[in-house]
Amino acid sequence: MTDQLLLGCDHRPRTADTALRQRAAAVIPGGMYGHQSAGPLPPEYPQFLRAGLGARIWDVDGNEYVDLMCSYGPIVLGHLHPAVEAAAREQAALADCQNGPGAVMVELAEVLVGTVRHADWAMFAKNGTDATTMCCTIARAHTGRPRILVARGAYHGAAPWCTPRPAGVTPQDRANVGFYTYNDLESLRAAVATAGNELAGVLVSPFKHDAGFDQEPVDPKFARGLRALCTRAGAALILDDVRCGFRLHMGSSWEPVGVLPDLSAWSKAIANGHPLAAVLGSGTFRDAAASIFVTGSFWFSSTAMAASIATIRALREQNAVAAMEQAGTALRAAILAQAAARGLQIRYTGPAAMPYLTFVGDRNHELAAVFAGAAVRAGVYLHPRHNWFVSAALTDSDIEKALVGTAAGFAAVSARLASHDESADRSDEQGTSSATTQESGTRT
Ligand code: PMP
Repeated sequence: MTDQLLLGCDHRPRTADTALRQRAAAVIPGGMYGHQSAGPLPPEYPQFLRAGLGARIWDVDGNEYVDLMCSYGPIVLGHLHPAVEAAAREQAALADCQNGPGAVMVELAEVLVGTVRHADWAMFAKNGTDATTMCCTIARAHTGRPRILVARGAYHGAAPWCTPRPAGVTPQDRANVGFYTYNDLESLRAAVATAGNELAGVLVSPFKHDAGFDQEPVDPKFARGLRALCTRAGAALILDDVRCGFRLHMGSSWEPVGVLPDLSAWSKAIANGHPLAAVLGSGTFRDAAASIFVTGSFWFSSTAMAASIATIRALREQNAVAAMEQAGTALRAAILAQAAARGLQIRYTGPAAMPYLTFVGDRNHELAAVFAGAAVRAGVYLHPRHNWFVSAALTDSDIEKALVGTAAGFAAVSARLASHDESADRSDEQGTSSATTQESGTRT
């Protein structure tokens, strides 16, 4: 395929999306909020989506994409997984939101306790932020101490104590949060020492997956050191498994590392897109968990819990973790080959099922935006600043279509670099230099 063809892939005009954005601007502050608000996504991306099935999604204008974002993690078995949707429908036909929970709440807690090694009990909520916040509250209730340590730059949710944007947040909201550097045991030791007898817990993600940065696996020595420090201090080791849970392992994501947390926060993939979060904990923290007051109008809804039980069963029956690893490995090999064939220097980091691609030297994510913009136009929905998600529904033909998209992305990056080179040549002839070319010199 020529570059011209790759760049000019068929794509319906985004009439409906544009109209919805205009209407949204009138009735929704900023037209959109949170991680989908202005900034990270290039203009080629649709904002409004209409349908999803398996590993494919459709925007409101009818364009079809291979979905490599999986709703930022909740979709793990593919959109509208038949067994999950059947279980949800069956429960919904009885009742969803009632005066009290259904039997599914106890069944799901039993399933989770039987699935996750460190878990002796489970509590439920709706969002990842609910779960991470509850973990901190339980740690504080258990220890009677205020301070929580988090890795600098890590994302744990959007409540005032952890939101990455400072607007509307007071210093008091963050007063009891301290920082360490991920994978740096010395910095953790120093932060623990500074917290002294105020330390309630340390929050940590299974690997370093900060948005916009190359991903980094956890150093097992760091994980073990963290475990020892928490045990010695009587503080809670809190694993934020919101993003990774049940995508990398059918248990907590640090089980393969051999380190068990005291508390763990879950959401995203546990109900294949149905709204649910969970806190899992060890027996030591059971009384504290029972002592705090947490609830929500929709926290006991049965449909998402029924969906979660079916999701966990299907993940096991389909050997989904291995399937995601396999599909992700094939995708990685092909993408690395595409980049190498063009002489483009990229980094492709993270687990195969949760990869992230950056261009070497692309400090302002300029090339990442060019890549992602062309890729989405050519039919693969991925992200320039956030890790991607592979679902167990990704078939060989999905991978093939995804690779047409990434090929278009790389073609667009090559074209951008060539135009930089040309303008640099022109500037050189005129005796000036091009700052842009120097900044984004990513070609070998
Ligand atoms: N922790 C991690 C690691 C996350 O990735 C997220 C969501 N991206 C959260 C917490 C917060 O989850 P939610 O958006 O469901 O509140």
